Amino acid sequence: MSSFPVNVPGAASRAAAAGAVPSPRALYVHVPFCPSICPYCDFHKMLRSEPLVARYLERLDVEVDQVAAAYPGPLDTIYFGGGTPSHLKDEELARVFAALRRGWGGGAAGGESPDGGPESALRMSGELRDGGSGRGELARTELTLEADPLTFDERRLAFFAELGVTRLSIGLQSTQDPVLSYLGRVHDREAGLEAVRMALASGMQANVDIIMAVPGQRLADDLRTVLDLGASHLSVYSLTIEPNTPFGRRGIVVDPEADADAFELAGQVVQEYGLRRYEVSNFALPGHESRHNLAYWRGRHYLALGPGASAYLPEGPFGTRVKNPPIKTWLLGAEPERDVLDADDVVLERLMTGLRTTEGVDLGRLAERTGAHVADLAPAWLRDATRHGLLLHGADDVLRATEVGLERLDALLRSFVGSRALIG
Ligand code: SF4
Repeated sequence: MSSFPVNVPGAASRAAAAGAVPSPRALYVHVPFCPSICPYCDFHKMLRSEPLVARYLERLDVEVDQVAAAYPGPLDTIYFGGGTPSHLKDEELARVFAALRRGWGGGAAGGESPDGGPESALRMSGELRDGGSGRGELARTELTLEADPLTFDERRLAFFAELGVTRLSIGLQSTQDPVLSYLGRVHDREAGLEAVRMALASGMQANVDIIMAVPGQRLADDLRTVLDLGASHLSVYSLTIEPNTPFGRRGIVVDPEADADAFELAGQVVQEYGLRRYEVSNFALPGHESRHNLAYWRGRHYLALGPGASAYLPEGPFGTRVKNPPIKTWLLGAEPERDVLDADDVVLERLMTGLRTTEGVDLGRLAERTGAHVADLAPAWLRDATRHGLLLHGADDVLRATEVGLERLDALLRSFVGSRALIG
């Protein structure tokens, strides 16, 4: 890996601005501040202090201008993750959105309305079609804000909507007080459920995060309680323990059998409500999938802002991964890490992300892009995985993981890495 100043427009970015290289249409914004720190969390996050937030906002302003100059969009999706983006105060969020409008709000369908009212919401991708309906309708940019249940009420939801937020991702994690307390969450069952009710009533799309395989948790109760409220999108993640977290230092481990059982149970319960698993950990009613996350899983390029945030830029024949430094050096303008991908990286990454989804990976298109077909790179792996019912290789040359394959995806990918031939 080498370092480079992604934020300084170079040849590739000038080409993007000139239209020669398509500009990424997805943007991730990392907001690292949280109201409290959960003992299992491995993300780049911290408690807020007023001076730190002020410096963050100043630096983000500069970064928006630099990245937007290099990659002018338009943007189809924007995702505020963290940390807890909803922990920013109204005026702080307004400042971030003003910067985004300055950077990407221009163009035929973008920018502020003459009166600067709610219609000044970000509308950044006028030509985006309505889910392939063919009716040619204009659809709004999908703009997701991750939110903690204790950081919003009805007034704030209206404010988020005015800013342009179309989708809320709520960190509920459980509806059971002993589980919430085990996870170190500060909200209780009632506050969490009230937050979900308010979000669903607001008219915004809403995702609800649930953590599974927590000791003593009744997962089916958690899922049914949320689904009975009318949730149309759920992210159900395993509790994972990283060594550098308080849980890791306390030697807590997750029982792999409990995790496998929870994976199956989640699929069964959610199906009863008409949602389908479209990615290992994500379930949605048809048409309610996260367009932003689908862009990641489909291997599309995306931009990123904020400390620790990662981008995938259209630079080099196979793209370049760029990772911003942590906040201390990011605030000082330190350069991101840059990893220029080759054909082998792209094959592995497409399998790693594409096989997570029920869409799978189009091996024919991947071969056109990289010059090598997975069936030639890892014939024994492909044969064994299909024979054992872990993968389906369709007549359309699309490779998909079965339900069992999804459950064992990590092992499946490790065996691919161990058996593949390298390209060239
Ligand atoms: S709220 Fe989310 S990002 Fe913040 S510490 Fe808890 S799990 Fe981590």
